[in-house]
Formats: sequence, structure tokens, C-alpha cells
Amino acid sequence: MKRGLPVPPPPSSAPAGGAKPRPGFPARLPAAAPAPVPRNQLQPRPAARAVAPPALPQPKAAPRVSAHPVAPTGVGMESQAVRAAMVRKIQGQGVTHPGVLAALQAVERHRFVDSALVNQAYEDTSLPIGLGQTISKPGVVARMLELLCQGRGEKMGRVLEIGTGCGYQAALLSHLAREVYSIERLKGLHEKSRENLRWFRLSNLHLLFGDGMLGYPKGAPYAAIIAAAGGNDIPQAWIDQLAVGGRLVAPAVTAAGRQNLVVVDKTATGIVRTELEAVLFVPLKSGVA
Ligand code: SAH
Repeated sequence: MKRGLPVPPPPSSAPAGGAKPRPGFPARLPAAAPAPVPRNQLQPRPAARAVAPPALPQPKAAPRVSAHPVAPTGVGMESQAVRAAMVRKIQGQGVTHPGVLAALQAVERHRFVDSALVNQAYEDTSLPIGLGQTISKPGVVARMLELLCQGRGEKMGRVLEIGTGCGYQAALLSHLAREVYSIERLKGLHEKSRENLRWFRLSNLHLLFGDGMLGYPKGAPYAAIIAAAGGNDIPQAWIDQLAVGGRLVAPAVTAAGRQNLVVVDKTATGIVRTELEAVLFVPLKSGVA
């Protein structure tokens, strides 16, 4: 993620709002869930900053949490409380999907960042993960996952994530989908994510090394596709590999020349594209390195 760039203001016009109901996924939520948001009501949001501010905040007194796979005694509850505070903050930003909130509560974000940054793991900020990339802000991750799950009361089927990075969002997805394929183009991060995720033993998560711009045809069609890196447009391969009734959420440069969240619904009658708030993600690059 490019850091230090100002976040552009939210688009002045409301999103197209042309999303149509999706035949494959009836809008059902568990009885106890808060008011479900219908799939066809995409709400604009204020500009979301997916990247860290120019200077990282000064390290604070390190809480007793560990970035290592073995949780020291007493740390579990403490990090659970810190995570609960993060989840409350994200709820305050308007995220209501029970499955997304439960996943955010369950997945220990501090296991995905370097030990020197562990004390910032539950702040709503992006953090460097090496090779010039960043773990996205939890608030932005939550927003995108909610868009992906919107109107679905049950777990998603097969999901493709482009840009594994450190593996945090992939771990969240594994709670929300029956099967997750996550692809990363940087070998170093692909390996790092595997290491980070080992502790979680997520048997439904498959990590792939390759160019995600091509999608992953072997796993297609996907109920959902999510990208953590933004290109000039949404690659056609992703749309091709989306199931009818499926949804894609990705940052992409829009006609206004800035990066916005884009939602693509593949319906029986065609593609419905909706542009939402401005965001700032690392660039989507082709090839591997
Ligand atoms: N979801 C990640 C965010 C990582 S940042 C996390 O939770 O940490 C986005 C990632 O997308 C970077 O690691 C970057 O290398 C990767 N990326 C960019 N272009 C890509 C491509 N074509 N295929 C696969 N990964 C890509």
C-alpha cells in the first residue's frame, strides 16, 4: 500500500445502486441477527483509508501479546478483550453482519504482524508486513467482507482472495466461506502467510502462489471474489470465474481517476457494477516476484 497519500474525498455522486437481487443467494439471516441488509441496497460510506498514515504512531507500552504461534499463559483473554474493543469500534462504523463481526472477534490479528508492531495490532490502522505491502485496516477489511456476505445468512461457498499478504483476511474468510483459495504474487509473503496461518489450522483455506490477475480457474466458479490490491480495472478473468449469483468486491480506479471500492454482481441477465467509496490499496501487479 502506498503510504502517505491523502485519501481522496468520497465520490460526490451516490453509488449507482443498480445491483439486482441475486438469484443464487436468498437474503436470509439467522433469526437472532440484526436487521439484514438486502443484497440490492449498497450503501455509500465516507472515504475509507486502507493505508497507514505517513508516520506510524510511536510504539506504546507493549501489551502482553505475542506474535508467535504459541500463546503465553494469560494472554488469550487479554487479547480477546482488546479484539472485542476493535470489533465495537468497527460496529460503530456501521458494520452489522454477525458472521463478519464474529470472525473479527475470533481471528487474532496480532499473529499476523511483526513482533515490534504487535501493540498496534488491534488499532484500526494498516501496518507494514514486508516487501512494501501492508495488512489492511480492520475497518476496511470488515467493510469489504460485509459487502461480500451481504444478504447471505449462511456461509459462502467457494471464495477466491487475490492478495494473501500476511494471511489475515484469508483467515477471516475461512470463517465465512466453506472453501477459500487465496493467491499471492510475492513468494516471500506467500511463505510468510503460510507460517502465520499454521497456528490456526484452517483446513478449508488453500494458499496459492501465482498471479492473481489471472484468477484461479481450477477453483472456478466462485461464489465470491475479493481483492486486496487495486488495478486500473477489474480483470475480465475474475468476472469470468465468478458464479452466476456471485459477487466480487475489489478496489479499482474509476472514471473519476481515483481508486474506489467496486462491487460486481453476476446475475442471470448480466453484470451489475456498483462503485462505492474512495479507498487506497496497494497496486494490483501482474506476474510473480
Ligand atoms: N489481505 C491482505 C492484504 C495484503 S496487501 C492481508 O490481510 O494482509 C495486498 C497484497 O496483494 C500484497 O501482498 C500484494 O503483493 C498482493 N498482490 C498484488 N497484485 C497481486 C496479483 N496480481 N496477484 C496476487 N497478489 C497480488
